[in-house]
Amino acid sequence: MAKKRVKVDAKECIMCGACVGSYPEDFEFADDGTAKPITGEADEDSAGVCPVGAISFEE
Ligand code: SF4
Repeated sequence: MAKKRVKVDAKECIMCGACVGSYPEDFEFADDGTAKPITGEADEDSAGVCPVGAISFEE
């Protein structure tokens, strides 16, 4: 799967863990419990697992 530059909106993240569980190579939990990118890039399909649309990609 193609990887793209990714952002997580920490104000939107409800800490459900779906992205961390489905894409553990791309996302981890920050100290505040929200998800954050590990490398700054993530699988472009990963936005689909977030129930609140907190994951977005830069073109
Ligand atoms: S899937 Fe979305 S709401 Fe859930 S932890 Fe990841 S960024 Fe946060």
